[in-house]
Amino acid sequence: MRNRHVIIFILSCAAFIGCQDLKEKKEQPFKMIEQVDFSHVKIQDDFWTPRLKSHSIATLPVCIDQIENQTGRIQNYENAAHKTGKHSGIYFDDSDVYKALEGIAYSLINNPDPALEAKADEWIDKIAAAQEPDGYINTYYTLTGLDQRWTNMHMHEMYCTGHMIEAAVAYYHATGKRKLLDVSIKMTEHMMSVFGPDKRHWVPGHQEIELALVKLYNETQDERYLDFSNWLIEERGHGYGIGWNNEPWEPAYCQDDKPVREMTDIAGHAVRAMYLYCGMADVAALKNDTGYIEALHRLWDDVVLRKMYITGGIGSSRHNEGFTEPYDLPNYDAYCETCASVGMVYWNSRMNQFTGDSKYIDVLERSMYNGALAGVSLKGDRFFYVNPLASKGDHHRKEWYGCACCPSQISRFLPSVGSYIYGVSNNAVWVNLYIGNETTFSVGKKDITLKLETKYPWEGNVKLTVKSLSSPLKREIRLRVPGWCDSYNVKINGQSVNKPVTEKGYVVLNKKWKEGDLIELAFDMSVQVVAADPRVKEDEGKRAVQRGPLVYCAEEVDNTDSFEKMTISSKTSFTSAYIPAMLNGIVSISTIESGKNITLIPYYAWDNRRPGEMKVWIDYVEN
Ligand SMILES: [Zn+2]
Repeated sequence: MRNRHVIIFILSCAAFIGCQDLKEKKEQPFKMIEQVDFSHVKIQDDFWTPRLKSHSIATLPVCIDQIENQTGRIQNYENAAHKTGKHSGIYFDDSDVYKALEGIAYSLINNPDPALEAKADEWIDKIAAAQEPDGYINTYYTLTGLDQRWTNMHMHEMYCTGHMIEAAVAYYHATGKRKLLDVSIKMTEHMMSVFGPDKRHWVPGHQEIELALVKLYNETQDERYLDFSNWLIEERGHGYGIGWNNEPWEPAYCQDDKPVREMTDIAGHAVRAMYLYCGMADVAALKNDTGYIEALHRLWDDVVLRKMYITGGIGSSRHNEGFTEPYDLPNYDAYCETCASVGMVYWNSRMNQFTGDSKYIDVLERSMYNGALAGVSLKGDRFFYVNPLASKGDHHRKEWYGCACCPSQISRFLPSVGSYIYGVSNNAVWVNLYIGNETTFSVGKKDITLKLETKYPWEGNVKLTVKSLSSPLKREIRLRVPGWCDSYNVKINGQSVNKPVTEKGYVVLNKKWKEGDLIELAFDMSVQVVAADPRVKEDEGKRAVQRGPLVYCAEEVDNTDSFEKMTISSKTSFTSAYIPAMLNGIVSISTIESGKNITLIPYYAWDNRRPGEMKVWIDYVEN
């Protein structure tokens, strides 16, 4: 494929993520779209199916081996149950067990596996045995002194509990077994007996419990859990955080410097911020809280317009694993924690559900296909914690980390990607991501089966078939036009739709749908050359290359002669071609500049071959 060379000069990041008028009318505070859960979506896709497979044959086994054999995470529970031995590892290591359990649960939903389920049951028995009679559960404090529990906000007791709740809900959905759910409810009741409006104040130093309590509310319909989540969010910014004396951080590090509804600038630790915003969005949806929504809109503008990398990565600084000044986006030293990119997926999905605006899915897709996907090797058995946009050749994925949040994050994220494809609202079916699948869900009390076929992200053609529908159904089908796409066309049953109606980045097709109807989309997927906001000093005089949702990079292994002095210009003409044998099958982009070949590969695929230098931003010559 030879693509026309498109140069997109942009004045701000907003342009390339399809950002729309920031002064748009205030949105209704309640959720308008319900996500179609991945348990209804059978992914059949050349790009994602191999990733789901490597998740079950490589990612999960690595996580289980590390948790059980290479580190003492399960032994900690056994020690806690018997009140003997020492705690090993870091005080929040319990959270990795829960995140891997959540990943196991999702994997069981996609592919039942009795041996894997038995392993999860075995872990859950050990976890349950470590619960204190009053409901408290945390192996670190049980083994180091329960008298010290709840004395320091930074010790992640509620963070670990939040991950336990998420795992418990997931495992209950996967298997119908509620042992971990009962442990979680007992711990929640314990927390609510200690903290609350007429009890002790508390600010969790690492958010997560807030969104988890909403999941627990959704599962149990016990409103006290929703109210407790809301109360914890409202506790922030009033000086209630305790334990600062032993920490080098300011309250802003964990978003405790001001009440959440007054927040304007994203600051502090990136993953903490993402989890807080998810919790705020979840509570806002159920409580119709416009104050939270307005704050989330301000925070979104700040991060996406001023503090996000082209890869969708956020949190540029290693120092605080988080944010610094606007436009401070170094490439070699980019932090971009894998968990933060996954957090962007979680948060942007929620923002889309409030607004029906595709700009959030544009960011979700950018973070998912680039920042997050780079976090795992092609084989699925090695992980990045830090995701720089340039490397001298000394940065490589590892099997595990002392702080192992990112591998365990990947273990739960990958098997649930099917959740981001579809949404349903009162009058519409929403198609957000183009991943091959077959899905059946309910619309207007009718079951509809849709089949989506595509070679995305390599090609821009998409076929969506109404595979089964008992009787005709009058609804809109809204199909996202990706922010990166300059031109597209759409057909219904072979007929081109002239000047299709669009709203907030979606093509709106409104008719009485019947079985066998076929929608065809063709998105122009040309190579695009992108400039950063000129205020990003690190990218001055440089350009990045993207094609479709994928950001590209140059690796030394493909460019041994040209890497150091590589330049592109306004005259550079790129060729793109699918190469099945390269990096499990990719579209590589190439050109010849000054007599030397330049080959670019998708950023997510870097560091899967011979170690060497890498860069996303390439020197650019005006001519
Ligand atoms: Zn992480």
